[in-house]
Amino acid sequence: MSTDDLIYNLICPDCRGKILPISEDRIICTRCRRRFSIGSSVINMLPIAVQKNYEDDAWKVLPYEGIDKPAWMALLHKRDRVLDFSERILPNFGFAGKILEVGAGTSWASALIKKRFPKSFVVATDISTGALEKGIAVAKLLDSSADYRIACDAECLPFADEYFDIILSNAAIHHFHDPLRGIREIWRVLKNGGRSCALGEVAAGELFKRILTSRIGPAGKRAGSLGVEEKVFSLKTWTKFFQSCGFTDIEAHFDKTWKRKLYDWFVALYYRVVSTFPNVLLGNFLPCNVDIYAVKSKRTGHTAA
Ligand SMILES: [Zn+2]
Repeated sequence: MSTDDLIYNLICPDCRGKILPISEDRIICTRCRRRFSIGSSVINMLPIAVQKNYEDDAWKVLPYEGIDKPAWMALLHKRDRVLDFSERILPNFGFAGKILEVGAGTSWASALIKKRFPKSFVVATDISTGALEKGIAVAKLLDSSADYRIACDAECLPFADEYFDIILSNAAIHHFHDPLRGIREIWRVLKNGGRSCALGEVAAGELFKRILTSRIGPAGKRAGSLGVEEKVFSLKTWTKFFQSCGFTDIEAHFDKTWKRKLYDWFVALYYRVVSTFPNVLLGNFLPCNVDIYAVKSKRTGHTAA
Protein backbone atom coordinates (compact mmCIF):
# COMPACT_ATOMS: atom_id res chain seq x y z
CA MET A 1 0.00 0.00 0.00
CA SER A 2 1.34 3.42 -0.91
CA THR A 3 2.86 5.27 1.99
CA ASP A 4 2.49 8.62 0.19
CA ASP A 5 -1.24 8.13 0.58
CA LEU A 6 -0.92 8.63 4.36
CA ILE A 7 1.17 11.78 4.04
CA TYR A 8 -1.59 13.38 1.93
CA ASN A 9 -4.20 12.41 4.51
CA LEU A 10 -2.57 13.99 7.53
CA ILE A 11 -4.06 17.14 9.04
CA CYS A 12 -2.53 19.65 11.41
CA PRO A 13 -3.11 18.79 15.10
CA ASP A 14 -3.22 22.49 16.00
CA CYS A 15 -5.37 24.17 13.34
CA ARG A 16 -6.77 21.13 11.41
CA GLY A 17 -5.27 22.60 8.24
CA LYS A 18 -4.29 20.48 5.25
CA ILE A 19 -0.74 19.18 5.22
CA LEU A 20 1.58 18.93 2.23
CA PRO A 21 5.10 17.57 1.81
CA ILE A 22 7.84 20.16 1.22
CA SER A 23 10.74 17.73 1.00
CA GLU A 24 11.47 14.04 1.42
CA ASP A 25 11.41 14.26 5.20
CA ARG A 26 9.41 17.43 5.95
CA ILE A 27 5.72 18.23 5.78
CA ILE A 28 4.06 21.57 6.42
CA CYS A 29 0.61 22.76 7.53
CA THR A 30 -0.74 24.89 4.71
CA ARG A 31 -2.70 27.02 7.20
CA CYS A 32 -0.53 27.70 10.30
CA ARG A 33 2.78 26.81 8.58
CA ARG A 34 3.88 24.44 11.37
CA ARG A 35 6.45 21.98 10.06
CA PHE A 36 6.72 18.30 11.00
CA SER A 37 9.60 15.92 10.43
CA ILE A 38 8.64 12.60 8.87
CA GLY A 39 12.20 11.34 8.60
CA SER A 40 12.47 9.69 12.01
CA SER A 41 10.91 6.42 13.13
CA VAL A 42 8.39 8.25 15.36
CA ILE A 43 6.57 11.15 13.70
CA ASN A 44 5.70 13.80 16.27
CA MET A 45 2.26 15.22 15.47
CA LEU A 46 1.30 16.15 19.01
CA PRO A 47 -0.59 19.41 19.37
CA ILE A 48 1.73 22.12 20.73
CA ALA A 49 -0.44 22.22 23.88
CA VAL A 50 0.36 18.58 24.76
CA GLN A 51 3.96 18.27 23.53
CA LYS A 52 4.79 17.63 27.16
CA ASN A 53 2.16 15.39 28.74
CA TYR A 54 1.60 13.37 31.88
CA GLU A 55 1.19 10.09 29.94
CA ASP A 56 4.68 10.45 28.45
CA ASP A 57 6.09 11.37 31.87
CA ALA A 58 4.40 8.28 33.35
CA TRP A 59 5.78 5.98 30.61
CA LYS A 60 9.33 7.06 31.32
CA VAL A 61 9.18 5.79 34.90
CA LEU A 62 7.00 2.67 34.52
CA PRO A 63 8.59 -0.18 36.51
CA TYR A 64 8.70 -2.68 33.61
CA GLU A 65 8.29 -0.52 30.54
CA GLY A 66 10.18 2.62 31.50
CA ILE A 67 12.79 4.26 29.32
CA ASP A 68 15.77 2.33 30.75
CA LYS A 69 14.09 -1.09 30.79
CA PRO A 70 14.81 -3.66 28.04
CA ALA A 71 12.16 -4.34 25.38
CA TRP A 72 11.75 -7.99 26.45
CA MET A 73 10.76 -6.83 29.92
CA ALA A 74 8.08 -4.50 28.48
CA LEU A 75 6.71 -7.36 26.40
CA LEU A 76 6.91 -9.90 29.24
CA HIS A 77 5.04 -7.49 31.50
CA LYS A 78 2.19 -7.41 28.96
CA ARG A 79 2.34 -11.17 28.26
CA ASP A 80 -1.26 -11.85 29.29
CA ARG A 81 -2.59 -9.13 26.98
CA VAL A 82 -0.23 -10.17 24.16
CA LEU A 83 -1.28 -13.83 24.41
CA ASP A 84 -4.95 -12.91 24.76
CA PHE A 85 -4.72 -10.71 21.65
CA SER A 86 -2.88 -13.44 19.69
CA GLU A 87 -5.19 -16.29 20.69
CA ARG A 88 -8.61 -14.68 21.13
CA ILE A 89 -8.71 -11.59 18.89
CA LEU A 90 -6.33 -12.03 15.93
CA PRO A 91 -7.81 -15.33 14.63
CA ASN A 92 -11.40 -14.06 14.99
CA PHE A 93 -11.31 -10.47 13.76
CA GLY A 94 -10.42 -9.94 10.11
CA PHE A 95 -7.93 -7.09 10.11
CA ALA A 96 -7.70 -5.77 6.56
CA GLY A 97 -7.07 -2.48 4.76
CA LYS A 98 -5.94 0.64 6.61
CA ILE A 99 -5.75 0.04 10.32
CA LEU A 100 -5.20 2.59 13.07
CA GLU A 101 -4.29 1.70 16.63
CA VAL A 102 -4.91 4.46 19.17
CA GLY A 103 -3.16 4.40 22.53
CA ALA A 104 -0.83 1.77 21.09
CA GLY A 105 1.88 2.17 23.76
CA THR A 106 4.85 0.13 22.56
CA SER A 107 2.62 -0.89 19.60
CA TRP A 108 3.03 -4.65 20.06
CA ALA A 109 -0.59 -5.21 18.88
CA SER A 110 0.06 -3.24 15.66
CA ALA A 111 3.19 -5.35 15.07
CA LEU A 112 1.22 -8.58 15.58
CA ILE A 113 -1.54 -7.43 13.18
CA LYS A 114 1.08 -6.64 10.54
CA LYS A 115 2.71 -10.03 11.07
CA ARG A 116 -0.54 -11.96 10.61
CA PHE A 117 -1.99 -9.69 7.90
CA PRO A 118 1.08 -8.48 5.95
CA LYS A 119 -1.03 -6.80 3.25
CA SER A 120 -2.69 -4.49 5.79
CA PHE A 121 -1.40 -0.96 6.35
CA VAL A 122 -0.95 -0.32 10.07
CA VAL A 123 -0.49 3.01 11.81
CA ALA A 124 0.34 2.89 15.54
CA THR A 125 -0.33 6.03 17.55
CA ASP A 126 0.12 7.08 21.15
CA ILE A 127 0.35 10.31 23.10
CA SER A 128 3.72 9.13 24.49
CA THR A 129 6.67 9.48 22.11
CA GLY A 130 8.72 7.49 24.67
CA ALA A 131 6.37 4.50 24.42
CA LEU A 132 6.44 4.57 20.60
CA GLU A 133 10.23 4.81 20.62
CA LYS A 134 10.41 1.78 22.90
CA GLY A 135 8.17 0.10 20.31
CA ILE A 136 11.05 0.04 17.82
CA ALA A 137 12.91 -2.48 20.01
CA VAL A 138 9.67 -4.35 20.79
CA ALA A 139 8.99 -4.64 17.03
CA LYS A 140 12.46 -6.14 16.53
CA LEU A 141 11.69 -8.77 19.16
CA LEU A 142 8.38 -9.60 17.46
CA ASP A 143 10.04 -9.54 14.03
CA SER A 144 7.26 -7.30 12.72
CA SER A 145 6.35 -3.65 12.89
CA ALA A 146 3.61 -1.09 12.28
CA ASP A 147 4.10 0.81 9.01
CA TYR A 148 4.08 4.14 10.85
CA ARG A 149 4.44 5.30 14.44
CA ILE A 150 2.84 8.67 15.07
CA ALA A 151 2.77 10.51 18.39
CA CYS A 152 -0.57 12.30 18.57
CA ASP A 153 -3.51 13.10 20.81
CA ALA A 154 -6.30 10.52 20.33
CA GLU A 155 -8.83 13.24 21.12
CA CYS A 156 -7.53 15.30 18.19
CA LEU A 157 -6.33 12.80 15.58
CA PRO A 158 -4.10 14.22 12.80
CA PHE A 159 -5.85 12.27 10.03
CA ALA A 160 -8.35 13.27 7.35
CA ASP A 161 -12.00 12.19 7.67
CA GLU A 162 -12.89 8.65 6.64
CA TYR A 163 -9.34 7.39 6.08
CA PHE A 164 -9.21 4.12 8.05
CA ASP A 165 -11.06 0.79 7.64
CA ILE A 166 -10.51 -0.42 11.20
CA ILE A 167 -9.59 1.37 14.41
CA LEU A 168 -8.28 -0.65 17.31
CA SER A 169 -7.71 0.39 20.89
CA ASN A 170 -6.38 -1.91 23.56
CA ALA A 171 -7.17 -0.88 27.14
CA ALA A 172 -6.75 2.72 25.99
CA ILE A 173 -10.00 4.71 25.94
CA HIS A 174 -10.41 4.70 29.74
CA HIS A 175 -7.10 6.61 29.89
CA PHE A 176 -8.46 9.43 27.71
CA HIS A 177 -9.14 12.77 29.37
CA ASP A 178 -12.48 12.92 27.51
CA PRO A 179 -13.41 9.43 26.22
CA LEU A 180 -16.48 10.68 24.31
CA ARG A 181 -14.33 13.16 22.40
CA GLY A 182 -11.90 10.33 21.58
CA ILE A 183 -14.70 8.06 20.33
CA ARG A 184 -16.02 10.94 18.19
CA GLU A 185 -12.56 11.23 16.62
CA ILE A 186 -12.50 7.47 15.97
CA TRP A 187 -15.88 7.87 14.22
CA ARG A 188 -14.61 10.80 12.14
CA VAL A 189 -11.50 9.10 10.76
CA LEU A 190 -13.28 5.78 10.06
CA LYS A 191 -14.63 5.12 6.56
CA ASN A 192 -18.34 4.48 6.16
CA GLY A 193 -18.78 0.83 6.99
CA GLY A 194 -15.53 0.88 9.00
CA ARG A 195 -15.23 -0.95 12.31
CA SER A 196 -14.08 0.12 15.75
CA CYS A 197 -12.65 -2.51 18.05
CA ALA A 198 -12.23 -1.19 21.60
CA LEU A 199 -10.63 -3.95 23.64
CA GLY A 200 -9.93 -4.24 27.35
CA GLU A 201 -12.15 -1.52 28.77
CA VAL A 202 -13.58 -1.84 32.26
CA ALA A 203 -17.34 -1.67 32.78
CA ALA A 204 -18.90 -1.49 36.23
CA GLY A 205 -21.99 -0.13 37.96
CA GLU A 206 -21.91 3.04 40.08
CA LEU A 207 -21.08 1.34 43.41
CA PHE A 208 -18.08 -0.60 42.07
CA LYS A 209 -17.02 2.33 39.93
CA ARG A 210 -16.70 4.36 43.16
CA ILE A 211 -14.72 1.59 44.86
CA LEU A 212 -12.38 0.99 41.88
CA THR A 213 -11.59 4.67 41.40
CA SER A 214 -11.36 5.52 45.12
CA ARG A 215 -7.96 6.15 46.68
CA ILE A 216 -7.77 2.50 47.83
CA GLY A 217 -9.19 0.98 44.62
CA PRO A 218 -6.81 -0.40 41.93
CA ALA A 219 -7.77 2.23 39.31
CA GLY A 220 -7.59 5.02 41.87
CA LYS A 221 -4.18 3.84 43.11
CA ARG A 222 -2.74 3.71 39.58
CA ALA A 223 -4.14 7.15 38.80
CA GLY A 224 -2.67 8.49 42.06
CA SER A 225 0.80 6.98 41.69
CA LEU A 226 1.28 7.59 37.94
CA GLY A 227 -0.80 10.73 37.54
CA VAL A 228 -2.71 9.26 34.58
CA GLU A 229 -6.44 9.05 33.88
CA GLU A 230 -8.13 5.81 34.99
CA LYS A 231 -11.83 5.98 34.19
CA VAL A 232 -14.54 3.41 34.78
CA PHE A 233 -17.99 3.54 33.15
CA SER A 234 -20.99 1.26 33.20
CA LEU A 235 -21.66 -0.78 30.09
CA LYS A 236 -24.76 1.35 29.55
CA THR A 237 -22.60 4.51 29.47
CA TRP A 238 -20.01 2.91 27.16
CA THR A 239 -22.81 1.89 24.77
CA LYS A 240 -24.31 5.39 24.94
CA PHE A 241 -20.92 6.93 24.05
CA PHE A 242 -20.70 4.88 20.86
CA GLN A 243 -24.38 5.37 19.99
CA SER A 244 -24.25 9.14 20.43
CA CYS A 245 -21.34 9.34 17.98
CA GLY A 246 -23.40 7.56 15.32
CA PHE A 247 -22.06 4.01 15.68
CA THR A 248 -24.40 1.07 15.11
CA ASP A 249 -24.16 -2.72 15.55
CA ILE A 250 -22.58 -2.16 18.96
CA GLU A 251 -21.61 -5.46 20.55
CA ALA A 252 -20.03 -5.94 23.94
CA HIS A 253 -18.14 -9.12 24.79
CA PHE A 254 -17.21 -9.75 28.39
CA ASP A 255 -13.68 -11.03 28.82
CA LYS A 256 -13.80 -13.39 31.78
CA THR A 257 -10.73 -15.51 30.93
CA TRP A 258 -9.09 -15.65 34.37
CA LYS A 259 -6.08 -17.61 33.08
CA ARG A 260 -4.93 -14.53 31.19
CA LYS A 261 -5.03 -12.36 34.32
CA LEU A 262 -2.41 -14.15 36.38
CA TYR A 263 -0.30 -10.97 36.52
CA ASP A 264 -2.29 -10.21 39.67
CA TRP A 265 -3.53 -13.14 41.77
CA PHE A 266 -6.39 -11.08 43.17
CA VAL A 267 -7.62 -10.13 39.70
CA ALA A 268 -7.25 -13.75 38.51
CA LEU A 269 -9.20 -15.01 41.52
CA TYR A 270 -11.91 -12.39 40.96
CA TYR A 271 -12.34 -13.45 37.31
CA ARG A 272 -12.26 -17.16 38.31
CA VAL A 273 -15.34 -16.45 40.45
CA VAL A 274 -16.95 -14.00 37.97
CA SER A 275 -16.57 -16.51 35.11
CA THR A 276 -19.29 -18.60 36.78
CA PHE A 277 -21.73 -15.65 36.98
CA PRO A 278 -24.36 -14.84 34.35
CA ASN A 279 -23.53 -11.86 32.11
CA VAL A 280 -26.57 -9.97 33.36
CA LEU A 281 -24.71 -9.28 36.63
CA LEU A 282 -21.68 -7.85 34.81
CA GLY A 283 -20.87 -4.45 33.41
CA ASN A 284 -23.74 -2.52 34.92
CA PHE A 285 -23.19 -3.93 38.43
CA LEU A 286 -20.09 -6.09 38.96
CA PRO A 287 -16.91 -4.91 37.18
CA CYS A 288 -15.76 -6.86 34.15
CA ASN A 289 -13.36 -6.35 31.29
CA VAL A 290 -15.27 -5.74 28.10
CA ASP A 291 -14.45 -5.57 24.38
CA ILE A 292 -16.74 -3.20 22.49
CA TYR A 293 -17.20 -3.65 18.74
CA ALA A 294 -19.06 -1.04 16.70
CA VAL A 295 -19.66 -0.15 13.06
CA LYS A 296 -19.72 3.27 11.41
CA SER A 297 -22.84 2.43 9.51
CA LYS A 298 -23.56 3.82 6.06
CA ARG A 299 -27.15 4.14 7.13
CA THR A 300 -26.75 6.73 9.89
CA GLY A 301 -25.33 10.20 10.13
CA HIS A 302 -23.25 11.76 12.87
CA THR A 303 -25.73 12.51 15.63
CA ALA A 304 -23.29 13.81 18.24
CA ALA A 305 -23.38 17.49 19.07
ZN1 LIG B 1 -1.75 24.12 11.31
